[in-house]
Amino acid sequence: MKLQEYQAKDILRGYGVPVPNGKVCRTPDEVQAAAEAMGGRVVIKSQVLVGGRGKAGGVKVSRSADDARALGAKILGMDIKGLTVKEVLVEPALDIAEEIYVGIVTDRASRKNAVIVSAAGGIDIEQVAEQTPEKISKVWINPELGLRDFQIRQAGYGAGLSAPAMKALPKLLGGLYRAYIDRDANLIEINPMVVTSGGEVVAADAKMVIDDNATFRQADIEAPEDTEVDDPFEMEAKREGINYVRLGGDIGTIGNGAGLAMANLDEVKRVGGSPANFLDIGGGAKAESVENSLRLILSDPNVKGVMINIFGGITRADEVAKGIVQAKKNLDITVPLVVRLTGTNEEAGQKILSKAEGLIPASSMAEAAEKIVQAVEKG
Ligand code: GDP
Ligand code: MN
Repeated sequence: MKLQEYQAKDILRGYGVPVPNGKVCRTPDEVQAAAEAMGGRVVIKSQVLVGGRGKAGGVKVSRSADDARALGAKILGMDIKGLTVKEVLVEPALDIAEEIYVGIVTDRASRKNAVIVSAAGGIDIEQVAEQTPEKISKVWINPELGLRDFQIRQAGYGAGLSAPAMKALPKLLGGLYRAYIDRDANLIEINPMVVTSGGEVVAADAKMVIDDNATFRQADIEAPEDTEVDDPFEMEAKREGINYVRLGGDIGTIGNGAGLAMANLDEVKRVGGSPANFLDIGGGAKAESVENSLRLILSDPNVKGVMINIFGGITRADEVAKGIVQAKKNLDITVPLVVRLTGTNEEAGQKILSKAEGLIPASSMAEAAEKIVQAVEKG
């Protein structure tokens, strides 16, 4: 679960990480009032769960409260990478002398958390890693020992940080690491960590991702309305609780169980087709979820045919068949549907399917894949 910047900053403040005192605003009036209280020169930051808001025009610095109002009016309602800005964070503007990068991530390869520091902050860290990898330092944290002081110095010197940044680093990284562990995060990224002309060090931006498997332990953190997914089909799937990944091809696939659903993709590929999606209806799926899955797949305009491959176990073939028939009735399906249905309650399922018109039956997975690819090629 990706958090909005203001949520991350609220959390980090509680761990002693210096963050500006900002205010979340939803209208230009609120922006103006907040700017007035902060002395007029403020930064107005769109709260959307995508990176590169600055480049997209979603982060602006005002000269006065009136100016802030105008900028607020511009940013609120703006579309940034498919997400509409509903809230902005207003903060006193910083006098930036230096921008550094500080992050903690779960490094799967080493099965440890890693601290990443770079003197080249404010820009995309991926870009820094590619073009000037020597400007990045990384240290791995032993989970039993935690983040040690010498590692903090190592990370800071390795990145070539300035004296004021070096001085602030222990408290800062200490706080970030405690927040990371306490709040079950798998990413915290401060980019930029700003060194002001007065030598203060402040987190100007904050990204935080909470492990989805731990959200029950972090019940006080509110799930943001918008998700980080920016594919509209995947967003819809998430809303409906469907296990769906969009792949960009033209043959829709449905399977039960992740293994079978992935095997579907392999089969379609093997016979020369291009899968439009991964979709797992899960164990014990009801007719309704079959219908919803079909509706979702067919809403993708690239889809020219759908292959349904169900191996009934806990999932009952008759229930799936009911869902397919229901979908046939309720949706305007103009593309070929190949159905392979076997396993628990197979006969009952086939009987239900035989009443529906226009379905292409298949008796094996390979046959299903061949038939759907042929049907799509024929148009
Ligand atoms: P991002 O583009 O989504 O990563 O948003 P950031 O919060 O990182 O803002 C982008 C850039 O705005 C920063 O890298 C700063 O260079 C610039 N900026 C200029 N003045 C300020 C300020 O007072 N506060 C903040 N947060 N950013 C500022
Ligand atoms: Mn940033």
